[in-house]
Amino acid sequence: MSSSRKADRTLPSVVYLYDEPSTPSLRIGEIEDFLKEKIPDLDVRMRKDFLSFHSRDLDKLAEKLAATKVRGMEGLKEEAEPLYGEVQFEKRMLREPHRRIMGMLYDGFRLQQAFRELLPEKELRTDFAHVVFTNRIFCTYEKGDARYHARVIMCGYPSLISTSGLVEAPAKPKEFYVIKQKYAAVGAEPPVEELKESIKGRFIDHGDENITQALKGYVLQSLFYHATGEPFCKDRNCILFNAHWQEEVINAQIVSGRLCSVHGEMLREMVGSQKG
Ligand SMILES: [Zn+2]
Repeated sequence: MSSSRKADRTLPSVVYLYDEPSTPSLRIGEIEDFLKEKIPDLDVRMRKDFLSFHSRDLDKLAEKLAATKVRGMEGLKEEAEPLYGEVQFEKRMLREPHRRIMGMLYDGFRLQQAFRELLPEKELRTDFAHVVFTNRIFCTYEKGDARYHARVIMCGYPSLISTSGLVEAPAKPKEFYVIKQKYAAVGAEPPVEELKESIKGRFIDHGDENITQALKGYVLQSLFYHATGEPFCKDRNCILFNAHWQEEVINAQIVSGRLCSVHGEMLREMVGSQKG
């Protein structure tokens, strides 16, 4: 099956939601309730983490995942033969899904492809959506500035939403980088506490209680992508807003927490036609 976009404004009939056990502050039951409230006829099916659920051959999968790793943010490199240590690392992580992966970046499209290959044929249907929470941080290469940029979401089959990406991908308030630079100028590492204090309440941290609330909008983005081919909105107060800053995430997902009037109406129409 191709991942070509579908634009007939039809919501999926079934959504598989995959948990991410390394993110305890992700309360997946709340996401399920949110979806059922927004789309009452949606059949939401909860599953444990995607890789544990679908993987059959751990060695092969570890190799595939290691091959999607990005080595440096600059310059697009061809898929490289993974190193022995990288494959072993992935194997360890597959065996211990409760551990959060730190300091690794994956190419978003290659990672999505590796996940897609695990989906059984009978579940690769255009009326099914697979929404996968993962703690892996993925990025996409932008030709504009010839760099990789970390993302919170990769829409498609399956849609990937990164719980660590939510913390690491959107930029933190400017003060954060000013303090980092100040210390870097004298060759020192800034104290983490001072850094966090300077932007308190203006970013989402690992273990943050706001993670579940913030990710609801991203799940809806994946479903809008599924139905319309367009997951994002330009209205900064809409939960479909494509935020590039932490403060934009907080504003759209926590302060506002709702769809704009255009998308609210669009969703009502789609829910109405789903009932037929
Ligand atoms: Zn909107």
